[in-house]
Amino acid sequence: MAIETDTDVVVVGAGLAGLGAAERLRALGRRCVVLEASARIGGRAWTTHPAELGGVWFDMGAIWLHDAENNPLTSIARNAGDPLLRSDAIRVERGFVGQRLMTQAEQTEYAAAWPIFEAAADTLIAAHGDVSMRAVAEHLGDNPWAASIEAWEAAVICTVDGDRFSARDWRRNALGGSNLVPDGGVGAFVQRRLGLGIDIRLNTPVTRVRWNGRGGRVVVETPSGAVSARSCIVTVSTGVLAGGGLVFDPPIPARARDSIAALPMGLAVKVALRAVGPDRLDVPLHCSVEQRVERIGDPLMPFQCWPFGRDYVQGWIGGSVAEDLARAGSDATAAFALERLRAVFGGRVDALFRDAPRLITAWDADPYVLGAYSYAVPGAADARAALAEPIGDGHLLIAGEACHVGYASTVAGAWISGQDAATAAA
Ligand SMILES: Cc1cc2nc3c(=O)[nH]c(=O)nc-3n(C[C@H](O)[C@H](O)[C@H](O)COP(=O)(O)OP(=O)(O)OC[C@H]3O[C@@H](n4cnc5c(N)ncnc54)[C@H](O)[C@@H]3O)c2cc1C
Repeated sequence: MAIETDTDVVVVGAGLAGLGAAERLRALGRRCVVLEASARIGGRAWTTHPAELGGVWFDMGAIWLHDAENNPLTSIARNAGDPLLRSDAIRVERGFVGQRLMTQAEQTEYAAAWPIFEAAADTLIAAHGDVSMRAVAEHLGDNPWAASIEAWEAAVICTVDGDRFSARDWRRNALGGSNLVPDGGVGAFVQRRLGLGIDIRLNTPVTRVRWNGRGGRVVVETPSGAVSARSCIVTVSTGVLAGGGLVFDPPIPARARDSIAALPMGLAVKVALRAVGPDRLDVPLHCSVEQRVERIGDPLMPFQCWPFGRDYVQGWIGGSVAEDLARAGSDATAAFALERLRAVFGGRVDALFRDAPRLITAWDADPYVLGAYSYAVPGAADARAALAEPIGDGHLLIAGEACHVGYASTVAGAWISGQDAATAAA
C-alpha cells in the first residue's frame, strides 16, 4: 500500500463503529480509508451458516436490534426493505424452579421483583455514588428472585459477574423498547447494507498509530504500508486497546488509558446443540427457557429452544463461568450446557443431545476482539464518556461500543459512537 498523504481521516476497524464513522464522513464530504485487520467487515456482527446446524444462518455475535423503535439501524433496514423478525412477539417463555414450571404466583412475584431491584440499585447509587450489582442483590437478600435478576443483568446480559460490575453503568444502559432481528442475520445485514462505496482495506492490521506528527498529521502503520491523514478514529475493542497489539506513539494520555482499564471485556459463550431425534422437550418452538437461580452468584444459562422453528437449542453463558469454560475447552463447555439442560428437563436430554452436532462461539480467542463486549467496573461508569473525548487537539479519536453512554455494548451504540467521532474529526 502506498502512503496516502491526502486522506482526510483514517479509520481503524470496520465493525459497526468504523462503518458508522465512514458513512458520516462520506455524508460530510470527507475522504476516508478504513483499515480492517480481518478478512471481513462487521466485527462482532458476524453471520455464519454452520454445517453443524444444517446450514441455517447463525449470528456468532450480535443478533438483536435493541430498542428497535429508536435504533438507527432499524431505519436503515426498513428503508432498504429488509424484513425484521419480531423475535419478542413470537417468543414463548418458560420459567422453571428446579424441574417444575413456575406457578402463576411465582411468575407474578418474579415480574414484580424487577422494579424492586431497579429501585434498590437507584437508592444505593444515590447513597454511595456507585455500587456493584452484587451489592444490590445482597441488599435484597430476602427476595427469592434477586439472585436470578442479578445473574440475568450482570453475567447474562452484560457478560460479567455482579461483583465486578457497576450498577450505575447498568442503570444508564438499560435498554427499553422491542428487539428486532434482521432476517438472515445482523452480520449479513451489515455486509449487505453498511460497507457499500467505502474504501475499506481488509487483511490490514494496524500496528502503530503515530498521532502527533508534523502539521498535526497522524500516520497509521500496517505490515503493508502506512496511511497518513489529518485525523484518525480508532474503533477496536477495549480488549484490543488493553492488549497492546496496537501501539500509540506517543502513548495516549493517562485519562484515556485509565478509561480503557475501567472498561474491560466480559465474555459470553453461545452453545448451540442440534437435536438428534424427534423429541422437542415438550416446549413450543422459539421458546425461552430459564431456571430460577437459588443462590446469589450461582450461574444462569438461559436457552432458546428451537429458535425460529429450527432443530437446535441455543444456550448462553456469561461472566466468570464463561471464562472458565473457554479455558477448559469445547467438550467441557458442551458438557456444562448438557448438565444445565438436564437440571431442567432430566435425563431425556442425554439421548437428544449426546454426541449432537454443536457450535460453540469463542470471541475470547479472536485476537482482534478478545472478549464479548465492555462493562464498567464499579465506580467507573463515567469512563465511557471519558474514552470518547478527543485526543491531541482532535487528531485522534477513540470510538466503539465502549464509548457510548446509553447504548453501550451494542451495535447501535457502536454505530452512533463512530458517527459522533466522525463529526468531531470532520
Ligand atoms: C456473543 C455476542 C452477542 C452480542 N449480542 C448483541 C445483540 O444482540 N445486540 C447488540 O446490539 N449487540 C450485541 N453484541 C455487541 C455488539 O456486537 C458490539 O457491541 C458491536 O458489534 C461492537 O462494534 P464495534 O465497532 O465497537 O467493535 P468491533 O465489532 O469489535 O469492530 C472493531 C473492528 O476492528 C478490527 N480490528 C481490531 N484490531 C485491529 C487492528 N489492529 N487493525 C485494524 N483493525 C482491527 C476488528 O477486526 C473489528 O472488525 C454482541 C456481541 C457478542 C460478542
